[in-house]
Parts: sequence; structure tokens; C-alpha cells
Amino acid sequence: KTVPEKILWQRSVEMRDRQQAWQDSPDGRRMLEFRRSLPAYIQKEAILSVVSKNQVVIISGETGCGKTTQIPQFILESEVESVCGAACNIICTQPRRISAMSVSERIASERGEKLGESVGYKVRLEGMKGKDTHLLFCTTGILLRRLLADGNLKGVTHVIVDEIHERGMNEDFMLIILKELLPRRPELKLILMSATLDAELFSSYFDGAPAVKIPGFTYPVRTHFLEEILEMTDYRLTPYNQIDDYGQERMWKMNKQAPRKRKSQIASAVEDAIKSADFKDYNPQTQESLSCWNPDSIGFNLIEYILYHICENEKPGAVLVFMTGWDDISSLKEKLLTHTVLGDPNRVLLLTCHGSMGSSEQRLIFEEPEDGVRKIVLATNIAETSITINDVVFVLDCGKAKETSYDALNNTPCLLPTWISKVSAKQRRGRAGRVQPGECYHLYPRCVYDAFAEYQLPEILRTPLQSLCLQIKSLRLGSISDFLSRALQSPEILAVQNAIEYLKIIGALDENENLTILGRYLTMLPMEPKLGKMLILGAIFNCLDPILTVVAGLSVRDPFLTPLDKKDLAEAAKSQFCGAYSDHLALVSAYEGWKDAEMDMVGYEYCWKNFLSLQSMKAIDALRGEFICLLRDIGLIDSNATSCNSWSSDVNLIRAVICYGLYPGICSVVHNEKSFSLKTMEDGQVLLYSNSVNARETKIPYPWLVFNEKIKVNSVFLRDSTAVSDSVVLLFGGSLLKGDADNHLKMLGGYLEFFMEPTVAETYRSIRRELDDLIQS
Ligand code: ADP
Ligand code: MG
Repeated sequence: KTVPEKILWQRSVEMRDRQQAWQDSPDGRRMLEFRRSLPAYIQKEAILSVVSKNQVVIISGETGCGKTTQIPQFILESEVESVCGAACNIICTQPRRISAMSVSERIASERGEKLGESVGYKVRLEGMKGKDTHLLFCTTGILLRRLLADGNLKGVTHVIVDEIHERGMNEDFMLIILKELLPRRPELKLILMSATLDAELFSSYFDGAPAVKIPGFTYPVRTHFLEEILEMTDYRLTPYNQIDDYGQERMWKMNKQAPRKRKSQIASAVEDAIKSADFKDYNPQTQESLSCWNPDSIGFNLIEYILYHICENEKPGAVLVFMTGWDDISSLKEKLLTHTVLGDPNRVLLLTCHGSMGSSEQRLIFEEPEDGVRKIVLATNIAETSITINDVVFVLDCGKAKETSYDALNNTPCLLPTWISKVSAKQRRGRAGRVQPGECYHLYPRCVYDAFAEYQLPEILRTPLQSLCLQIKSLRLGSISDFLSRALQSPEILAVQNAIEYLKIIGALDENENLTILGRYLTMLPMEPKLGKMLILGAIFNCLDPILTVVAGLSVRDPFLTPLDKKDLAEAAKSQFCGAYSDHLALVSAYEGWKDAEMDMVGYEYCWKNFLSLQSMKAIDALRGEFICLLRDIGLIDSNATSCNSWSSDVNLIRAVICYGLYPGICSVVHNEKSFSLKTMEDGQVLLYSNSVNARETKIPYPWLVFNEKIKVNSVFLRDSTAVSDSVVLLFGGSLLKGDADNHLKMLGGYLEFFMEPTVAETYRSIRRELDDLIQS
């Protein structure tokens, strides 16, 4: 044997001996027994044999059957047995950082090891990996970055892509790259794992790769849709606290003695909502007509009621509540903690489960509560397939999820909750039947369920492709359209063209589709390009502080609250932040006011008085911190960022930076006698959402509004706008690339005849060139 082989062999023997010793100990024996009880373990030999005979294998099985924790271990163990264990190098990707961390910790404890011995993890900015680590869990983003550094994945023997059914953009993207890598690395194994999976689609994408299905078992689950839940509600609700939580949610007291026949206020509100919603022409792709049925506003009370009902009347067993996101989870938790039964720690153990929870909180989720205490877990759809809580018997399903969830930055609640698919609803229901027959409460009517799409559309087909296109360019993967045409399901050509066109307009790509310097910086900021642009320019122009707030504000739920019964008061409170003809600047002054109040320890009162959401304020605060770290990482600001704020009070400069980011989201302001109307180039007349500060003005002393988003309902509505002047649009709208100035002028020409005058245009061009040089340098 050559020396290195001998060393490898020795290490493998040591690894095997260590495992043997652990498995002979009492704890180890118990753990092994548990592992052997999992359905995946029963298929161990079959799985290993398929993996050894094929380059690509697709494995599916019920959630909780042991795919994530067992299959990577089987491979590791069999490699160790076959003497070359120390040479194997398994990478397993997870769509979320939290699962990469929790799964690796779980496997280490199954093996009686510490994290960082044979099992480790790596996520952005964090990791635990040692020289003996042969099984590494990481996020998809980390493996993509590794592929960038080394296109052949040298030294890696197995790639396992987990949770493939989620069909996130990053995963679909990575599959294209991996598929092209396979012929170059014939000895590399690729294993795709999923709970519910369209095995045929994946199999044909990988030239007929074999699919293994792990048979599972779940107990029957009784299902209640909203209609049945309302039938059950022999309760009447009486408001006991008129002063509500910033007017968001009224608190209610349950009165069990209420006469049976009397419908609760919630029940009739729900009925009205069902009646008024038109589900017949529901379009699963746009989810359009369903949007008028919105369970969010009544959901909290209903959930509180059902939880209370379960605690009072039902058999023991944990409850899992599926909610849309962290913000909802924490408001509901706050509300439940004030409830006499649900907030009583002697009766209820109230836990949360979401992407940003800490590891001690994570461990609690898996533990059994004390006798007589009921565990209630408020979770995001992370508990749908990636985390399995063992003792769940009751499931509450709100029917919605926030789409997309990769890293902390993309995971922000700027993504609106949308209806889940039938497959997801089934998956959620199944969580109740793991240990005994269970019950599932769907908080929506059956007709809504019937209208759900069968599967969720893959992200690549439903979201804008701008960031993805930038990534393709930064990985030097050639022409964007060619590359995307090789995807599992390719996005529409038009969608791709739109994205490329947009990136050209904002100056991230040049005429030949190459990354510009700006584009390169944007690829380093994991957020929408327009937000990245604002941060970059904010740093360059020394006005980062307000821009951090603007960008963070665009990523969280609108902090200005308008409770229906206190509309006037809320509007009056908001008007003190107006005056700059800008929703973005209104938010900046609200945030700054809150910061000052926080210093004086009265942040809560400040929010309460001004109808602001404390949670949004806190979320903005946290995001600002993350953005600063990112900007530091890529070297746009130095470690003491104070130098970036000397121009922070120059409102017009801030307008310019906002315009730089939001362009081409722009409309012109046309004044008439009494008020004004708005026009965009593509849509003609557009309207403002009524909660915009500009909607309450009768005159806007600027010719343009830049806006963050437009939404087509019946008319086109603009959300979040800022008024800007001609010169700002000319100098900061569009790309600042050499040569593009003329294009930009042409685009605006229809509006801006005045500026087409030769001398003015020439002056503009020269200023623009100077700005361009500044930014490119
Ligand atoms: P799958 O990937 O097929 O959904 P997992 O491999 O994640 O399943 O989990 C298999 C089983 O291991 C689960 O049913 C659960 O009982 C147990 N398990 C997983 N993670 C933990 C953990 N952190 N603590 C305790 N038990 C766990
Ligand atoms: Mg799993």
C-alpha cells in the first residue's frame, strides 16, 4: 500500500472502532434502536445498492421517515466499512440554514460525537467543520459558491440535494450546474431527496435515473375545514379589552355559557367573507380572485379559540400551528401569553419554530413536556417537511405560506403570504398522524382548498429572474437564455428577456450582457438589485443612514398601522411624518423618532401613540445591522461606518439615491385644476394606494414620482412612492454607463421635451459623465 492509502485505511479503522464502541454503550444502543425503527433504515441495503450502481438516484419518502438523518449516514458508514471511508467526502445541501445546523447536530448526537468531528455544517458566516469531517451539511448557497471556486468539486464524492420538492430557485439553478458536471466527474454520486416528489420529472431530467420510494405509514387524521370548525364553535365572543394592541387585533374573551345557537362575531365575519369571495374563476397561477378572501385578520382569534378548545377538551398530544412567518408567530405568541389557560406555563408549553430561532429553542421543540403540560408549537412551513416534531397529534393550518426562504436577507417578510398547494396542505395534515390518529383544522373553507393548485409552481417560474440572471453572469455560465433553457422547467423566454432588459436599464449589464462594475457589486449583495443599488449609492454619497432605513423598510411589513375603527386617529398620527412627498422619507422619520424614544426607554409607548408596529421597527433595526455587515464585507464602507453619514440630512440627495434604486419605476405627475393624475409609460393612468402619503395631497410640487412596486388589480396601483425633480431623474434615473446617457434621454424624451433642447442635453451629458466616472471608480 502507498503511504497515503495506508493512513486513510488506518483512519477508517479508527472511525469504525469509535462507532462500534459508541454503539456498544447504553446510550448508543438506545440510539441505534431508534434509528433501526425508522422506515429508511429498513431500506438501508436497497438504498446503498442503488446508489452504488448509479450515478444519480432519486429518493422519496414521507417526512420523518429518516431521509435526512439516515441516508447520509448510511453512505458514510458503508464507505467506512469498505475501508476508504476516510477518503469519502459527502456534501448534503439544505434549503435553509436552520435545517443545515439542526440536522448536523442531530446526526452528531446519533453518532455519539460532537459537531465538527465526522459530521459538520457550513452556512453563511458560520460553520463547524474539522479535519475528520466527511459529512458536511450546508445551504444551497454555500455549495453554489463552492462550485464557483471549483467547477469540478474536486475531492467531493457524494452530493446529496435534500428537500428537492420545494423547487426553490437556487436548487433548480444548482441542478443545471450539477447535471453538466456529472459527465466530467463520472465517479461523483448525486442523490436527490424529497418528501413529495414528481419522481418522473426528475428521473427524465437525469436521463432515466432510478427512483427509490421509502414506504411510510401514518395514522388516519380527521380533517376539519372552516365550515366544520364554525359548526363546532358554540361560543360567543365578547370584547373585554377595547384598547387593543396598536389597534391590530382586538382581544376577546371566550364565554362558554353563551347560548348554543348564537353565532359568534367571528363566525359571521367569516361567513360574510366566504359569501363575498368569488372562488369560481380562481386562477391558481396568479391566485387572483382568492385574494379577496383573507383569513389573516380573523385568524388569530380563531386559532386562539381552537387551541383553547383542544386544551380543555381533547386527549393529550402536542399541537402544531402553521403560520406564515416570524412576525405573525411572535404577535400570536404575545397574544396567547395573555390568555388565562394558554398563557399558563403549568398547563401549556408555548414554543416557536422558524428560520431564525436559536439552537436552545430548537432543542426544546423535540423534548417531551412534563405530564399534564401541553406542547404548542407555532411554526412556519419549515415544520412542513424539514423539521419533524415527534409527538404532534393536532395540526392547525392557516393555509398560507410566505414563498421563498433561503437566507436571512431574502427571507424577510417583503414576500406576501400566498395560498399553499394541495400537496402542502396534505403534508401539513399528515404531521398530525405520526404517533396516533390525529386531527387537523384547516382555517379556510373547503372551496378554497378545492381551488388550491395541485403543486406549488417552482420558484423559477413564478418570481422575477433578475437576481438569478446576475448570478449566472457572475458564475460565468455563458448566455443567460441558453443557460436557463437547460433548466428542469425553463422560465418563459419573455420573462428572461424582461429580466435582462431590466438589468441593462439599471446598469448592471452592458449592451453585450456582460456584468458591469455595478453589476459585480450587486451580485455580492443578496437582495433585489434595486435595493442593492440604493445601498451602494448611499455609501458612495455619504448618506447611508437614512438609506439603510429605506431599504430595510421596503423589506418588512408596512409599519404604519390603520386599524379600521381608528382610521382617523391613525391618519392624523401618520401626517406628522409626511411633508416630504415621500413614503420612504415618512418611514425614515418614523424610525428615527422610534430610535430616539428607545433611548429614553419609551419605544413601546411611541409606537402605540403613533400607530406604528413595534415589530416592524425592530425588524428594520435588525436588518440595518445586517446590511452594514454586508457592505463592510464587500468593502464599500470601512469598519467604523460613521464616515458614511455626513450628508444624511440632505433630503434631496436621499431622493436622488431612492430614484437611482427605483428607476425605471417612475411615473409623471400631471396637475389639473383641483388635483393631479399619474401616468407611466407602459400603463397610462395609474393610481396610488390610499395609504400612501402622496394620496392625501392635492398637489405635488415635483414632476415625477418614483415607486417601489406596481400592482394590477382592476387599475394599476402604486405602492410606496417618492417625489423627485427633473434633474434628479436625468442624473440618477437609469444606468450611469458611458454611452447609455443617450438611450436614457431617448426613453425620457416623450416626457421631457424641454431637456431635448441641444444645449441643455449637452450640459446634462457632461454632468452625467462625471457622475459615471465617480461611480465606476
Ligand atoms: P426526513 O428527512 O425523512 O423527513 P429525518 O431524517 O429528518 O426525516 O428525521 C427522522 C426522525 O428522526 C424523525 O421522525 C424524528 O423522530 C427524529 N429526529 C430528527 N431530528 C431530531 C432531533 N433534532 N431531535 C430528536 N429527534 C429527531
Ligand atoms: Mg428531511
